[in-house]
Amino acid sequence: MPGLTLRDITKRYGTRLSSVDALRGVDLDVPQGSYIAIQGESGSGKSTLLNVLGLLDAPSTGTYLIDRQDVAALKEGAACAHRSETFAFVFQAFHLLDRRSVVENVELSMHYRGVDPRRMRTRALAALADVGIADLADAKPRQLSGGQRQRVAIARALASGAPIVVADEPTGNLDSSTTEAVMTSFENLRQHGATLILVTHSEQVAQHADRQIHVVDGEVQERTEEGCTENPPPIKHHEEPKTPGKASTVRPTAAVRDAAANLLSRPGRAAGLIAAIAVAATLFVATLGLSATAQQQVSESFDAVKSRDVTATVSGDGVSATVETGLPDVAESLADLNGSAAVAILEDLGTASVRVGAPREATDTSTYASYGDIRTALRLDIDWTDAPMASLASNQVLVGAYLAEGIGMAPVDLAPTIEIAGRTLVVVGVITDSPRAPDLLGKAVTGGDENPETANPPTSTVTAYVVTEMGAAASIAEEAPLVLDPVQPERVDVASPRRRTLCARMWRRASR
Ligand code: ADP
Ligand code: MG
Repeated sequence: MPGLTLRDITKRYGTRLSSVDALRGVDLDVPQGSYIAIQGESGSGKSTLLNVLGLLDAPSTGTYLIDRQDVAALKEGAACAHRSETFAFVFQAFHLLDRRSVVENVELSMHYRGVDPRRMRTRALAALADVGIADLADAKPRQLSGGQRQRVAIARALASGAPIVVADEPTGNLDSSTTEAVMTSFENLRQHGATLILVTHSEQVAQHADRQIHVVDGEVQERTEEGCTENPPPIKHHEEPKTPGKASTVRPTAAVRDAAANLLSRPGRAAGLIAAIAVAATLFVATLGLSATAQQQVSESFDAVKSRDVTATVSGDGVSATVETGLPDVAESLADLNGSAAVAILEDLGTASVRVGAPREATDTSTYASYGDIRTALRLDIDWTDAPMASLASNQVLVGAYLAEGIGMAPVDLAPTIEIAGRTLVVVGVITDSPRAPDLLGKAVTGGDENPETANPPTSTVTAYVVTEMGAAASIAEEAPLVLDPVQPERVDVASPRRRTLCARMWRRASR
């Protein structure tokens, strides 16, 4: 069981010109099974200390051992892996997924930890029972009170089985009777052997803990029974290296995608940083493979500021599994991202025979199904038969200008129909310009099937086209792979101004 040891930890924020010493020589030992309350005035460094402890933030100097392994200078990838193995987070804001039931929200914590899916429901229900809200299992988060939502968050930490639970002001916005109910739920974490570290302003809350630590101006003061500060034992260095957190067996599920989309769509990036970790710390383990390959894909000459176009492509075998929960959902989730202005997805349906109708000759050409706002996202110029439309129904088709000519299609104002693979579709327009996907001029684009049950599995390639708001391209580029394929985001090719891994970005931001 991991014990935590901090020695002479400092954390300095800012630049050489102006800096804040948020932690100044902190020594702390946290044996497994401890229950510690961290108190202190606003700005004293409590959150910084908690973030360092939870590997959300790297210390500037000092030694931090988790289970005797030095983690102070872990690279972002290793830190993410470690974090997911070791910590569960409970924050004042609840970070529950509104689209999922309470029990599904609790199950989410187990998706990343290799828990047998058949056991997840039992374990989630047991955790809900432990915190006294078993009867709310099927409710949606928005139906719950603040205290109930916080207890769901605690149940999630409980079900995750993480050995250390870290909570920053978990009762900060609750009244005092609700606070007691939540604190009782925390007791359950202890009974399961978890270490509990919480930051609180409240003496009432702090009294539940075994140890009260006070942070004063970046230094830790611990009141022992004798009323003096404890001297920490000397540090012992052990040789035995611990293997870094093993990768969880992440399964492609709608829940995972929801998690990514939900947290990434949150207003306020600073909150999103924490939300990201709180909801799905381990989700980012899956993104660790991203940076090496992805950064090579970056076009250096791309104008990072001016560009608003992000294109994300998944291709190769197994695409249909990647997108198993349905492209309409994916398009919607991409549209929900901060800074996303227009989104469309093209799904390659392969080659089909296309003709105006008997007795005319058929031409073989590739066709696409489309989801979302193809006109705006692909910046298409279209001669419409009728009023312009954003997205197509499954019986409607846009025909590329070259294809229209090739099959001898009647002029658009005559509202022609064409046959694709034997199906008659209504032509709603002719694509006369397609700067983002020039090949569309020779192809046909139909509306996608909104029903995942009957939708064709994509043959080889799914491409998401996003037009972002000014300046948002880089962040959308980082997030799009997670939405497209939360399980194997590294398989998503992104053409965009600049990108890093989400985890790297979070880590870097946290370390600043
Ligand atoms: P607490 O949680 O006790 O209110 P914090 O740990 O949030 O305190 O902050 C400690 C000090 O560090 C404060 O002076 C705060 O302004 C500063 N600080 C915290 N985060 C940052 C940051 N990201 N950049 C610069 N200064 C920061
Ligand atoms: Mg704080």
